[in-house]
Amino acid sequence: SKTPVGFIGLGNMGSPMAKNLIKNGYPVIATDVFPECCKELQDLGAQVVDSPAYVAEKADRIITMLPSSPNVIEVYTGSNGILKKVKKGTLLVDSSTIDPAVAREMAVAAEKMGAVFMDAPVSGGVGAASMAKLTFMVGGLEEEFKAAEELFTCMGANVIYCGQVGTGQAAKLCNNMLLSIGMIGTAETMNLGIRLGLDPKLLAKILNMSSGRCWSSDTYNPVPGVMEGVPSANNYQGGFGTTLMAKDLGLAQNTATNTRTPIPLGSLAHQIYRVMCSRGYANKDFSSVFQFLREEEAQ
Ligand code: NAD
Repeated sequence: SKTPVGFIGLGNMGSPMAKNLIKNGYPVIATDVFPECCKELQDLGAQVVDSPAYVAEKADRIITMLPSSPNVIEVYTGSNGILKKVKKGTLLVDSSTIDPAVAREMAVAAEKMGAVFMDAPVSGGVGAASMAKLTFMVGGLEEEFKAAEELFTCMGANVIYCGQVGTGQAAKLCNNMLLSIGMIGTAETMNLGIRLGLDPKLLAKILNMSSGRCWSSDTYNPVPGVMEGVPSANNYQGGFGTTLMAKDLGLAQNTATNTRTPIPLGSLAHQIYRVMCSRGYANKDFSSVFQFLREEEAQ
């Protein structure tokens, strides 16, 4: 029989990911600061406990899926954190999107306790998490990768080893910076076309067979009515929140500043998403930048 896997952070992403571990026959030991997040998992047979420290007492492999760097620091190094009780040889995998420098700090702290830390952020939204179609970008010791890969394949379709600890986060931040630039570009382009009298569906069709095509135009179009089954078709509910995108762009900006790398469009995208957060878009999907641009124009 399979050994228990700990899961900490049962939000939009963590909950479907943990469900896929249960589906694959792993006993799951779960915790979240909001215990109501764990109810559904408990009904599926997961053991729900009070704290990350308790998870660490019970499991040899632990996955964390938390909002951002401060939550990860708390869950690993806090007074009821994983590292208070972690067993020697435990594999710790953080799939949250956080600062690569914090991932490296967690790896050093874990090593002091005889445990192994890897960063394994994911790409693909809530839909991909439910269907076990996530892409995992993994940083850590290559010799430990196999033990983690077995778990990743239950939750994802692609698992990519990137290099030392922190490189998974680096890959993730690069992807999300480009995603945000592509989304804003798609939104402003579609808006211009509409104002020039083009039908949005027709314009999207033309872009998608031309050199302007990108994921935001052909898979996640931000204009309501162009596609079905995307947040723009559902008043920008669900999906990937504007707050989380602003967070990822802030992280990308920090890494760019530290390495003296120019990211003019990434910096601008960061500012646009920050302004959106303070103008009522915080909890909407990040494709709502289309709606934001329309409102700006109307004033
Ligand atoms: P979420 O806010 O829905 O879930 C996070 C969960 O962590 C919440 O249930 C929260 O209660 C819990 N939590 C916070 N602090 C905790 C603590 N100290 N102890 C225990 N639990 C704690 O966020 P999400 O959408 O699931 O995203 C999680 C991470 O994955 C983020 O870093 C995000 O950037 C990244 N991500 C999200 C998506 C997406 O489409 N939503 C896609 C890829 C990556």
